[in-house]
Amino acid sequence: MKIPPICTIPITMLCFTMILVVGCVAVPPASQSIVSKRTQMHMGTLVTVTAVASDKSMGDQAMQAAFDEIKRLERLLSTWRPDSELSHVNAAAGRQPVQVSRETLDLVVRSLEMAQLTHGGFNIALGPAIDAWSVIDRQRIPDERELQQLKPLVDWTSIQVNKEARTIYLPHEGMRIDVGGVGKGYAADRAVGEMKRAGARGGVVALSGDIKTFGVLPDRYRFPVGIRHPREEGALIAMIDLNDEAISTAGDYERFFERDGVRYHHILDPQTLQPARACQSVTVIAKEGTMADGLDTGIFVLGPEQGMALVESLPGVEAIIIDQEGKITVSSGLHGRLHEP
Ligand code: ADP
Ligand code: MG
Repeated sequence: MKIPPICTIPITMLCFTMILVVGCVAVPPASQSIVSKRTQMHMGTLVTVTAVASDKSMGDQAMQAAFDEIKRLERLLSTWRPDSELSHVNAAAGRQPVQVSRETLDLVVRSLEMAQLTHGGFNIALGPAIDAWSVIDRQRIPDERELQQLKPLVDWTSIQVNKEARTIYLPHEGMRIDVGGVGKGYAADRAVGEMKRAGARGGVVALSGDIKTFGVLPDRYRFPVGIRHPREEGALIAMIDLNDEAISTAGDYERFFERDGVRYHHILDPQTLQPARACQSVTVIAKEGTMADGLDTGIFVLGPEQGMALVESLPGVEAIIIDQEGKITVSSGLHGRLHEP
């Protein structure tokens, strides 16, 4: 929401606006808003929810609605849980289609669209390769033969979605969907939807670096968010004020291990099934968290040139890409929007 400078508003319109505000007794001025904040652990990460509401009880309800939605989605989508819908889809690979909820189907459909956009850089069929590396738990380096054997199982174009029957089918045994690269952004979008329904007039849902904002804070127009330096712990490269937008960062510093001076991290290049090497971090700003989160991972794989060309072609999408040498590229729509930390 852009607030026009006061001098551009005609006098008649200004009066009309003032009358409208005074007339709306049910909506106190923004200065009377209460800001509440709470943090819980979900989806394997710290989730912080901030609510701007007219009173404490409404703020509490909005925060609870956000957490409830995130917990519900985790039960549908987490492949760490054997009873989730996606785990059922994965377990039935090569055997039969599995019927899923609208939310699971929606996320898979959106993910396949982002796979198209990024020419397969973003790939939710990478599950078997992600397991083979398991960067956090085992920290092992799979050999080239093992990775090549997985290649037929990571073909996202073979995923069969039937929207009418609401089914997903993985046609080869051993295929596995993994929505780790987009699920948190999707959860942020849906949690914000629930907060609005609960009456919040503004807020933030942050699943670690996957952040979605809406509305305004009482004393400022927008929500300021810092963008992390990929190599200097605790340092920021810039700040940006978000305006009904989502932001998401994919970085090679988030989950990684080092062996013989080489960094092995959690974002894989679907071509090689090795950690993607073109970037240190990719931050995407978009209207929706689903888009921001899916694209940050896909662009990380595509690299700075192809990635920035894609961003410039998509309306409402902006990015800050830091390449392997640490060179920062900023999309045209962000010029003038970034400020000093
Ligand atoms: P996070 O916010 O959790 O760090 P990212 O958006 O950076 O997540 O995505 C990383 C996660 O996405 C990995 O942990 C893995 O589960 C999954 N992933 C890895 N490589 C890809 C890829 N090329 N396409 C889609 N998902 C991927
Ligand atoms: Mg992502």
